Amino acid sequence: MTDGLLIVGEDVCAEVVNSADAFKAVEAVFGAMAKGDAYNFPVIREAIGYADALYGFKSGFDKAGKTLGLKSGGYWPGNMEKGLTNHQSTIFLFDPDTGMLQALVGGNYLTAVRTAASSSVSIAHLARRDAKVLGMVGAGHQSAFQLRAAVEQRDFEKVVAWNPHPEMLPRLGEVAKELGLEFEAVTQEELGAQADVIITITSAFEPLLMKSWIKPGTHIACMGTDTKGKQEVDPELLAAATVFTDEIAQSVSIGEAQHAVGSGLISEDDITPVGAVINGDHPGRSSDDQITLFDGTGVGLQDLAVASVAAEQAEKQGKATRISL
Ligand code: NAD
Repeated sequence: MTDGLLIVGEDVCAEVVNSADAFKAVEAVFGAMAKGDAYNFPVIREAIGYADALYGFKSGFDKAGKTLGLKSGGYWPGNMEKGLTNHQSTIFLFDPDTGMLQALVGGNYLTAVRTAASSSVSIAHLARRDAKVLGMVGAGHQSAFQLRAAVEQRDFEKVVAWNPHPEMLPRLGEVAKELGLEFEAVTQEELGAQADVIITITSAFEPLLMKSWIKPGTHIACMGTDTKGKQEVDPELLAAATVFTDEIAQSVSIGEAQHAVGSGLISEDDITPVGAVINGDHPGRSSDDQITLFDGTGVGLQDLAVASVAAEQAEKQGKATRISL
């Protein structure tokens, strides 16, 4: 990039980064992380004691992709009343050769596409090839992005869905219909019985899916648990599954695996970075009966990877603003 600071707004991010771009960027950075070429710095997340806000930073450096920076933001529960999104974030990219600030990129849309890309990468590498039914647990803001990205990886014919707040499901049903898929709202047990691939994307603090409901051969992407105390599935399910993650340190501390590891059902050594599968260093799924589970905790390097694509594309397409500091 040339001199000056590039500014890429939310609307431009949505115009220049699609789910295929995000998939490519996230897959590459997961691979780099597993090789030790990219690493995330410790996450900061604080209740600031004002506006009930949770504020923090996720940051890292990808030596392979030459991406250095951070995502700053958090959760402001009162924003909805102001007509704003509750989750707010901005991504800062720095030149790794000089430390100069290179780009300021809106992080709200990119957070959703990079999170959807994460489960999508796990489906591409771990789900059975013949998967036909997608189970969705969750129907909030992220769920539509998750659904759209997942259907790019397998020839799904039907979506079965359950949400703790059932009134939110019709909106997800509209997205499924738009994608040409049959949609059925079901019970949790029915979802486990039908689905070949399941995505969980809720703010739950207790298990929503029990091990006995899940059929052999299912791939599950647990995407909602990104904080200590959160939980979406039965820890016994992790004990029965082959467990993969974006980053082991986050998986055992703030991810879904925190509970199974905390109660001694599995250990850290039982968890494999999905990047190892991407790099061909781990075989991934070993049989059609195996349950695979991806613990997608959300790492800063995903944000930097998609922000870097957004900055590059926005600049190329003349859609970014450049200013000098
Ligand atoms: P949202 O507020 O739009 O939707 C929340 C979802 O969780 C809805 O399905 C709602 O019915 C459900 N829910 C709310 N309270 C619940 C409770 N107490 N128990 C069970 N379910 C509950 O949120 P969103 O933007 O769709 O995000 C969903 C989750 O994904 C959040 O927990 C968020 O922190 C997490 N997230 C994870 C990543 C990641 O990288 N892993 C990235 C972004 C968001």
